[in-house]
Amino acid sequence: MTPVLLMNTHARVYRKPSNVDRAKEEIICPMCISVFDTPLSLNCLHSYCEKCIKSLLRSSPNKTSIVCPECRAATLIPEDGVAGKLLL
Ligand SMILES: [Zn+2]
Ligand SMILES: [Zn+2]
Repeated sequence: MTPVLLMNTHARVYRKPSNVDRAKEEIICPMCISVFDTPLSLNCLHSYCEKCIKSLLRSSPNKTSIVCPECRAATLIPEDGVAGKLLL
């Protein structure tokens, strides 16, 4: 009984790293250089984290569009906000 239990436990522990490896398509935000789990994509298909998008929007003069820091393309932000609309 006991060895079987140990083997099951070991199999579970062993599985975790391989699952993490498979899901390791981490995207790094080029603005804050950190991994983000909610990438927001602009019209130019560059992606930034929500925090950076919001700070771009805050520093934008008209609050309705942001300029991509990488390619300078403008993306219009919908009136009801960033969340959801630009989600990949
Ligand atoms: Zn960021
Ligand atoms: Zn861009």
